[in-house]
Amino acid sequence: LDQNLANLDGYLRRFRDTGILNRIAGQDQPGAGGSFATISPVDRSEICRVAHGTADDVDAAAQAATAAFPEWRDMPATDRRRILMRIADAIEDRAEEIALCECWDTGQALRFMSKAALRGAENFRYFAEMAPRARDGQNLPSPTLMNVTTRVPIGPVGVITPWNTPFMLSTWKIAPALAAGCTVVHKPAEASPLTARLLVEIAEEAGLPPGVLNTVNGFGEEAGRALTEHPLIRAIAFVGESRTGSIIMKQGADTLKRLHLELGGKNPVIVFDDADLDRALDAVIFMIYSINGERCTSSSRLLVQDTIRETFESRLIERVNRIRVGHPLDPATEIGPLISEEHFAKVTSYFDIARQDGATIAAGGTALDGDGFFVRPTLFTNATNDMRIAREEIFGPVLTSIPFSTEEEALAIANDTPYGLTAYVWTNDLTRALRVTDRLEAGMIWVNSENVRHLPTPFGGVKASGIGRDGGDWSFEFYMEQKHVGFAT
Ligand code: NAD
Repeated sequence: LDQNLANLDGYLRRFRDTGILNRIAGQDQPGAGGSFATISPVDRSEICRVAHGTADDVDAAAQAATAAFPEWRDMPATDRRRILMRIADAIEDRAEEIALCECWDTGQALRFMSKAALRGAENFRYFAEMAPRARDGQNLPSPTLMNVTTRVPIGPVGVITPWNTPFMLSTWKIAPALAAGCTVVHKPAEASPLTARLLVEIAEEAGLPPGVLNTVNGFGEEAGRALTEHPLIRAIAFVGESRTGSIIMKQGADTLKRLHLELGGKNPVIVFDDADLDRALDAVIFMIYSINGERCTSSSRLLVQDTIRETFESRLIERVNRIRVGHPLDPATEIGPLISEEHFAKVTSYFDIARQDGATIAAGGTALDGDGFFVRPTLFTNATNDMRIAREEIFGPVLTSIPFSTEEEALAIANDTPYGLTAYVWTNDLTRALRVTDRLEAGMIWVNSENVRHLPTPFGGVKASGIGRDGGDWSFEFYMEQKHVGFAT
């Protein structure tokens, strides 16, 4: 821990001097609205000042992205691939700095954030490899025409990201946009802006031309809104809350923005009594108590068959009570502090809500003393699916356990939610797995597995969890336009 803190101090020193500035057309720019503080959730100390971007800054960034677009679009794709590969290498070189800054800014434990930083590199490398195929099209001849289709990058795009795992999520959007030939204006979350600054710096040092990636910090209702309304911005890739997604849809309506929305979840993990219960237990714990439970794909509803409920829950309680809450830079820590005072108040409010609704707090249910936003990992039992703890996205290390008796009932409970991002099924009965996965309303389902991302597969949700898919060619579908040309023969 001491060594990590010393290293972090070295990395943060320059931010303390200059603050985090916007990066527009390859230049550092102060925010037109002055600056705001970013606070560490570990002890509420001010990390540094951050440029407070306004509509004027967004306009400057959109102009810069528009000016840089033709050169980036027309650059041979193999050159684009080389630059994106260099960005991936540079992310790996600076992975420790990224991870330490991310932990201090977000409260996430280092053991998870070191992997997230490397996943950022993987995102760049994966889409770099795909860049030369981005424009691939088809030949669809008719009796009188040679019909040729191709794809062209849509233009400058806006990327708006949330505060949870901000570095990884930003690369997940920005890498395919750049590989497709788009230029980008990125508006990172106001609560965790540090690593977005590192990303644009790394990208430019790796040879990304000025103006291809621009970063404007600021608040959602101001800088974010201006980005979604800007006429030069052709599309918005958004990751955040479902409510914000719907606001962004309205904001983008006048300029007919193409939207990709990756939103919230209240994801079920269904454990049938024929499952490998040891593995199921590990996965249930990992998918809600890692990354502070501040994770869109977390399985926050445990649906457990009543025949195994008692033993499964008692083993779960025993494990949950052993989870180590602590300083995020301590390698032993599993759960760090929640992102902010506001979010801490939201998460802890569910402890009372659970009691009032008649659920049992079987583990946790309290905050830790001190300045930071620490809560104990929490398990609610004796819950029903109509309780608020089962319906609302709490977005913390808080699991709600709901019993079921039959497969039909499990499915009914699993689907009785406004959300539909992920679902997890534990059973050794193959035909049941096929039946259940066919009927689950979720964009992504894992059977006998935790969430393991394979980048070519489609990532996204249904219902209130979003619109659109990332991953593989699906990312290019969003960042590119199909173009058809018919040649008379
Ligand atoms: P949020 O919606 O509050 O904010 C996300 C981003 O949107 C921030 O950058 C914010 O400044 C900006 N924003 C807010 N209002 C805006 C507006 N009117 N116009 C434009 N931009 C605006 O979300 P959050 O609290 O930062 O993140 C947590 C949420 O993100 C959770 O609901 C979580 O499930 C979701 N999430 C989803 C995925 C996914 O892939 N589906 C991944 C991670 C997080």
